[in-house]
Amino acid sequence: MSVFAHPDFDGHEQVVFCHDKASGLKAIIAIHDTRLGPALGGCRMFPYASEDEALRDVLRLSRGMTLKSSLAGLRLGGGKAVIIGDPHTGKSQALLHAMGDFVDSLGGRYITAADSGTGDAEMQAFAQRTRHVMGAAPRTTLDGSIVSGDPSPSTALGVFVGLREAVFQRLGRDRLSGLRVAIQGVGHVGLGLARHLKAAGAELWVADVFEANVQRAMDELGVHVVRPQDIYGLGVDVFAPCAMGGILNEQTLEALRAPVIAGAANNQLASPEIGAELQRRNQLYAPDYAINAGGIIDVYYQRIGGSAAQIDAHVRGIAGTLQSIFLRAANEQVPTSVIAERLALERLQQGDMPEQRLHA
Ligand code: NAD
Repeated sequence: MSVFAHPDFDGHEQVVFCHDKASGLKAIIAIHDTRLGPALGGCRMFPYASEDEALRDVLRLSRGMTLKSSLAGLRLGGGKAVIIGDPHTGKSQALLHAMGDFVDSLGGRYITAADSGTGDAEMQAFAQRTRHVMGAAPRTTLDGSIVSGDPSPSTALGVFVGLREAVFQRLGRDRLSGLRVAIQGVGHVGLGLARHLKAAGAELWVADVFEANVQRAMDELGVHVVRPQDIYGLGVDVFAPCAMGGILNEQTLEALRAPVIAGAANNQLASPEIGAELQRRNQLYAPDYAINAGGIIDVYYQRIGGSAAQIDAHVRGIAGTLQSIFLRAANEQVPTSVIAERLALERLQQGDMPEQRLHA
């Protein structure tokens, strides 16, 4: 398998294959771009069917992090790590320590955080071996309570305000009461999003492959549950993908009728052409790395010692970023995905800028 010739290789600065014989760890860390700052991105654990699948994921995800931090106005570059293994059964303390050692060996060029398949416990294990990990320490929220460093509540808030903006732009509704939303995946972010939507009066349909998460959403929020394969074809206003990538593809588009697509999953578009197809079909797509930036914004402020109020204000700013993307896409008659990438690359090419302009 060649990395340099890989179709998803995009001039990545560094790709590290990690193997620890004693614990059985197999992982890949990809540093895509550090022009704006150290490469920060989550560590995903997933039972990839092959090394090639894991490589493809980490190459795409790390590039996505570069675009995400750039668009969100953060002084961070893009990186990501993937551990090949089952997140429910494949974790041992030794494996997590070995991963922490690999992260440490990069000397801060890559900073890790939680992602799908990892959470507070894993970050705390990494933190025993490296200081280049975010989200391992508790912090204070807006209401003064002490919570873990898990950034997924901020991701969920960002998706919620972004979804609300998309609904306003596409459907002209400024209230979410009675809005019909289908959520794919009710894990950390999907459940958080469901809570916000429920509080705003929306009606929810959910699907998840992990029964315990479905049950939790049903018990807590009284959602309708559908089979995972049926989530695309519902007659809803919004489809919110909060599970895995590549779910907007030729097959799913045949069933997908929702006029708004706004969810947390990374790399939702199976290919750039799908973004153009959504535009042609008048389905408003909230570009994934624009709407799901709440988590990276959160860990950025944790890193620089910012306050809960700063995090909240910046995360809520995702609505404004999306509004600019939607308006520019409509004016120029190009897909929202193209505009998001253009804006992110513009800042990347400009390089760093003063802090006050970054957060304006
Ligand atoms: P998670 O692992 O907590 O939740 C994902 C959920 O999706 C799980 O409940 C899982 O069982 C379910 N799922 C997996 N495959 C499915 C399928 N085929 N159909 C239905 N459900 C399925 O992960 P998370 O932290 O909630 O992240 C969700 C997505 O959002 C991921 O793509 C992640 O990369 C992205 N994201 C997360 C954050 C964050 O702060 N956690 C930030 C940005 C982006």
